[in-house]
Order: sequence, then structure tokens, then C-alpha cells
Amino acid sequence: MSQRKRGTRKRKNEDASAGEKEGEDTEERGDRRKNRATKKYIGAHVGIQGGIWKAVESCMEMGGSSFALFLGSQRSWKRPALDHTAAAKFQELCSQQGFDPAHILPHGSYLMNCGSPKEDVFEKSQALLVDELSRCNLLGLSLYNFHPGSSLGTITTEQCVDKIASAINYAHQETPSVVTVLENMSGQGSTVGGKFCELKSIIDRVRDQTRVGVCLDTCHAFAAGYDLAAEGGVKAMLDEFDQEVGLQYLKAIHLNDSKGKLGCNLDRHEDIGKGHIGISAFREIVNEPRLDNIPLILETPGRNQNQWFQAEAARLCPDRGAIPRIMEEMKD
Ligand SMILES: [Zn+2]
Ligand SMILES: [Zn+2]
Repeated sequence: MSQRKRGTRKRKNEDASAGEKEGEDTEERGDRRKNRATKKYIGAHVGIQGGIWKAVESCMEMGGSSFALFLGSQRSWKRPALDHTAAAKFQELCSQQGFDPAHILPHGSYLMNCGSPKEDVFEKSQALLVDELSRCNLLGLSLYNFHPGSSLGTITTEQCVDKIASAINYAHQETPSVVTVLENMSGQGSTVGGKFCELKSIIDRVRDQTRVGVCLDTCHAFAAGYDLAAEGGVKAMLDEFDQEVGLQYLKAIHLNDSKGKLGCNLDRHEDIGKGHIGISAFREIVNEPRLDNIPLILETPGRNQNQWFQAEAARLCPDRGAIPRIMEEMKD
């Protein structure tokens, strides 16, 4: 990596002459747009303490090209309305910095269980889903990622799937345009969505299928039994996903190694390369063309340290160099 430590402006010119497709774009703000030539958008889940726009600033500091964020407190069902000035500031920063809404993936509240057999919890979850989608609209965002739900072991998976789909249909009716992105689960407890066929069952029941998608979390997939540690494991998982659900529904990836072993059903994230999945799966991801142009989001314990993030991105693709080079370029 040492030969990449030269002046950033110079690198840009070299890249332009090296035949980058969008090389003629030398504007300051073009940096992130230029990033599109790599087609891989790596970022992390970042905090919103101090104001929702802080998420954009944190992502910029880290040198990410995509990010995830919560839309409010994780402790409360009823939250104060999103401040319009803060939302405007968020949107302004995103457009200034060239972030496409398709590369920003808000994460739903952990309180929600849209599959809950308890009527009061279901009602509150459905209301929170509507509230969060409205927040996305106010922020100019197009995707919203959440955990499908849990049967709590007292209703069947099919009944749970019905509830989840009906909450989604209701929320779609109440809000415009935002795509609800179901996250695959680790299979912990009675959660639904560990198996691709369960995600497909939910999608099948959604009336507006242009507004539903999937985010695949690598830790959850591995814990649910998809062997990403095997050679070609990522390709095999995507093939299976394509067959059972359809790649057109894949909107994002959560990049997490796993503290638990294959099929352990535990939702325990680990830093990339330090867990049971191992670095080779993540290299496969970075080199997999089917994962172009979607957000690849780190939710690992060490993700918020800038240097760690840079090193992590560099480790993911040491040969092609695209991501680390872009990381270098984006540092001012
Ligand atoms: Zn999640
Ligand atoms: Zn995740």
C-alpha cells in the first residue's frame, strides 16, 4: 500500500490518464461520483448523535462510499418528529458529497416486530414502520432495511409471514415510494427470514413488489447455514438466492464476519477476517459483479475507527486496489 501514499490530487490525474471511464471529471465534488467507476460502494453503519446529518459527516470522515444509519432512538416507540431543518441539512450534505440515495440504507428500529402474535406489539410495530418510511421520505431516501419479525414461538411461520406482509402492505399504502428491504436473519429464536424461502414468502404476499427487496447479511446467512467460508461460497449463496427469490430483489449487503460457527443460528458479528467466515468470502464479494452498485455495509465491532475502516477496505481488495485507492483519494 505504501506506493499509494502519494499526493491525492496527483493520483487523480494518473487515474484519469489510466483510462478510468469518468476520468474527465476532475471537480472536487466529482470524487464520490468518480467512485462509481469502481461499482463497489463500501461503507459502514454510522451514528446520528448530535443530528441526523452527522451520519453523512461520519461516512465522509471514514472515506466510505455508502452508509447505514438509524432514523431515531432505539429505545422508544414514539419519537419526536424529525426536524425539517435537520432533514434539509442531511439532504444538502448528501447531494453536495454526491451520495446517491440508492447507496444509503437506513436500518429499522430493533423494537419493531411486524410478525408479533401480540396484537398491541403488532399495531405499534406497524405504526413505527409507517413513521420510519415517512422519515425516509423526508430525508430523500429510497431504501429502508428492517428485520422481518418473530413468531415468538406461539404462531406458525406462515401466520407470522402473513402478519409481516400485511404490515408492509399497510405501510406502503400510507407512504409513497420507499422500498422496504427485508434483512435475512440468523435463525436465532423464532425469527423469520433465516431461510431464503421465508423471505420469498413475504415478498409473494406484498402487493407492490416494486417496493420490496432484500438485504443479505453475511453473518446472518452463515449462522443460518449458508456456507460462505467454502470456496465459491458467495457465488453459491447468490445462485441459491437468485433461484429462490430473484436477484432483482437484492438491494444491499451487510458485511460482517461471524463469531459463531456455520449454522449456529447466533447473531454475533465479528470484524472481517477474524471470524468463522474468513477473509476469502469478503474478497469474493468485492470481486462479484452481481454485487455492483449496491451498498455494502460494515456492521462490525471495529467499524467506526477510521484507520481500521481504511485498512479493512484495503484488505478486502489488495490486488485490484480500486477501493483503497478511492479511500486515499477521498482523504483531504
Ligand atoms: Zn439488521
Ligand atoms: Zn445486518
